[in-house]
Amino acid sequence: MEIQLKRNLRKSIKRGHPWVYKDAIEVKKRESAKASFALLNDNKGLVSKGIYDSTSPIAFRALDFNPLKAKELDQELNRAFLKRKSLLKFSTTGYRLINGEGDGFSGLICDIYGDKAVLQFDGSGMEHFWRQTEVSEKILSELDFINTVLFKPRGGESLELLSGEELKSHDVYFMENGLKFKANILKGQKTGFFFDQRDNRNYVKDYVGGQTLLNAFSYTGGFSVYAGVSGKEKVVSLDLSPGAVDDAHENWMLNELVPSRHEGISADAFEFFESNKKTFDSVIVDPPSMTSSQKTKSRAISKYTDLFSIAAKVVKSRGDLILSSCSSQISFEDFNGIVAEALSKAQKKGKVLRFSGQGIDHPYPHFCPELRYLKFIHISLD
Ligand code: SAH
Repeated sequence: MEIQLKRNLRKSIKRGHPWVYKDAIEVKKRESAKASFALLNDNKGLVSKGIYDSTSPIAFRALDFNPLKAKELDQELNRAFLKRKSLLKFSTTGYRLINGEGDGFSGLICDIYGDKAVLQFDGSGMEHFWRQTEVSEKILSELDFINTVLFKPRGGESLELLSGEELKSHDVYFMENGLKFKANILKGQKTGFFFDQRDNRNYVKDYVGGQTLLNAFSYTGGFSVYAGVSGKEKVVSLDLSPGAVDDAHENWMLNELVPSRHEGISADAFEFFESNKKTFDSVIVDPPSMTSSQKTKSRAISKYTDLFSIAAKVVKSRGDLILSSCSSQISFEDFNGIVAEALSKAQKKGKVLRFSGQGIDHPYPHFCPELRYLKFIHISLD
């Protein structure tokens, strides 16, 4: 179908911004109520091909190719894999193969766990556009190491077999930088594991010193295992979810680390920081997203500030504070401001050793900083 751009957004879209909000689009003749392939025009002609969904606030999502054409789908899938192929050199078999807009596959996510692929949609209405079975058959035929392709609804706890072999267990095993991990793709958050922090975890292993480390909001212990491998005397994984804490210990043990050097605590991190008297050489704080809209952004900013400031207080003098945020509403600039406020509130200051973001398997369009969502900072406190 063809739709018309009402606002002067040609330049922004041509520069690679993939989204157009509903109020900037005019539809003369509606062909389908569901998300469908569309050509976006303005008075100069074609601006972009993409997905149109009248029910979504982001009514148009640009596509770099036409996924309804099998050959183009093949090509782009292979391209996405080629971008990640180097990860295999680092003994990494768990990664994001398709990162939505960042790979030109607006609204589609695909995570790889060894020989298994898990598809997920990102954005309302996208399930009506992407032909799951066609995409899954292509993944199975194009990537010879994949045996099973599953679909997991966003925020849900169900799995559907799309192509290939039936799953024997929801626990899947994979490697990250040569380290072993298990994820439960049914019960786990997102598709089971947060691959976006891979480089930052490796960084923690190589560059974060000291003998004691607290990994707050540890989930299944990604950062903890890397810290353990670096030879720390004591690593504490803290998460609200008791299941995640157990899984963190299991991942620790998978890597044959000394069991007594790891401690799992299931608690609320805010309460822990407020009441805890013990201090650590380094503290990692990687909370879940605190805002999903501009409306709740200012509340999220003060929550982050409070959290980071109470966390700074449990770091030993001259220790390391490592902070992260995955809220896409919080920009790198916002984040820097939050960290400044938090340190000031805690009456601390320090030097930045690293300020980074997501790994190479989470690309984003250059002209869409909103999709550069992950912030990670390592500060050596004075
Ligand atoms: N750092 C992790 C990802 C963190 S995801 C990794 O590298 O894999 C965020 C985690 O925060 C989730 O596991 C969730 O259970 C936990 N969480 C949410 N609210 C919390 C709270 N108030 N206190 C402690 N943990 C919390």
